[in-house]
Amino acid sequence: MLKHTPNEVTERSALRINPAKTCQPIGAMYAALGIHRCLPYSHGSQGCCSYHRSHLTRHFKEPVMAATSSFTEGASVFGGQPNLLQGLNTVFTTYNPDVVAVHTTCLSETIGDDIPQIVGEAKRQELIPEGKHVFHASTPSYVGSHVVGFANMCTAMANYFAVEIKDTKRKSTDKVQVNIAPGFVDPSDMRELRRLAEGTGLKVTMFPDTSGVMDAPQTGQHIFYPEGGTTVEELQNLGRGVATLGLGWWASREAAIAVEKKAYVPREILDLPIGIGATDRFMAKLQFRGGELTHELENERGRLVDLMVDTQQHFHGKKVAIFGDPDHVLALTEFARDLGMIPVHVLTGTPGKRFVSEAERILGPKAGNIKVEGDLFTLHQWIKAEPVDLLLGNTYGKYIARAEDIPFVRVGWPILDRVGHGLMPTVGYAGAVRLLVKMIDALLDRRDRDSVDHEFELVL
Ligand code: SF4
Repeated sequence: MLKHTPNEVTERSALRINPAKTCQPIGAMYAALGIHRCLPYSHGSQGCCSYHRSHLTRHFKEPVMAATSSFTEGASVFGGQPNLLQGLNTVFTTYNPDVVAVHTTCLSETIGDDIPQIVGEAKRQELIPEGKHVFHASTPSYVGSHVVGFANMCTAMANYFAVEIKDTKRKSTDKVQVNIAPGFVDPSDMRELRRLAEGTGLKVTMFPDTSGVMDAPQTGQHIFYPEGGTTVEELQNLGRGVATLGLGWWASREAAIAVEKKAYVPREILDLPIGIGATDRFMAKLQFRGGELTHELENERGRLVDLMVDTQQHFHGKKVAIFGDPDHVLALTEFARDLGMIPVHVLTGTPGKRFVSEAERILGPKAGNIKVEGDLFTLHQWIKAEPVDLLLGNTYGKYIARAEDIPFVRVGWPILDRVGHGLMPTVGYAGAVRLLVKMIDALLDRRDRDSVDHEFELVL
């Protein structure tokens, strides 16, 4: 399928071919689903909303509930105020959410709809019932990516709900609360982050939290608002935290800053805790904020170290290409380096100059090809010029993996052609074990496939 990709790399400024990103509202919709009893609301045409819902469904294998303003030609010319007013009325009378999180699309952004003014008008017309909440994030897709949309919605929820809480005195029996903005990760990752943080004895408020929503159990009945998600009360109590840990500079930084500005809770921006180094830094920060590293957590880390030592000879010197969302890619790059691999091609589709400097810092003088706002066409050309032993990235990498016959491990978002990723974490020590096993399996399966008979080993 990609056999016509030329070897020679030509700098392009006005064309993306197979971009390593998608549009902002998808991330905004996913973040909104992490609030309990929240209905995401797409202010634009219904085609956008259908695409965003179906793309999330394809990754999580779960139904995604969302409403839309259903723009037609009239709204495109005269503005979408009547659509949003009618939409809010319908949503509250028919679906009874506690929260409606509105995000915009390219169309409503381009015509310039003033969402706060329209929501104000909805309040004036008493279309928003007492005790219900409507807030919005601006998510134009012609800038940024799905990660930026996720970050914008997380920031909007912090701005809307977080308040300063002056009476933060705790009883001696009360646990210390830490807020965690988990980044654009799977529900299983959010559950794992909570397990690790609560394992240190802290109380955790995670926002958003899609565990129990996008991995809700099968009960035989359709539940419109599943059990999971951050409650309104938890969001209103973000101010009780001793700190907000924003995991991932791209996905969580702005939200952590918003909590700091609104509720005077200090922020700590950390890397996404994928791999041993980033997880150690996450655990150290929890300790700094009052958590205790238990013997069981230390053992968990020790098992990962043991596995790394046992497999070191298989990773050492292997070349790897890594692409996807910037927070994921940087954490994976560090983990690959820690395993003894050589990340020779590192690429993200999301903008942000910090990506290059961070990747260079991780890789040092050995830094190879690094690109921000890149596309998979460029990645394929790089790989043709300098082949790799392993490719790490989302589902879209399978075309390059097949064209160049490279072992491929699916990690990140989206994974459309496999199952289980939403149920098994990639973060933390346990997530690193799982990731390492997938990587070593891919390398050893390839070695077995290519071995001549007398080198076809039974034992590792
Ligand atoms: S890029 Fe814009 S128009 Fe296209 S689906 Fe995304 S929001 Fe809609």
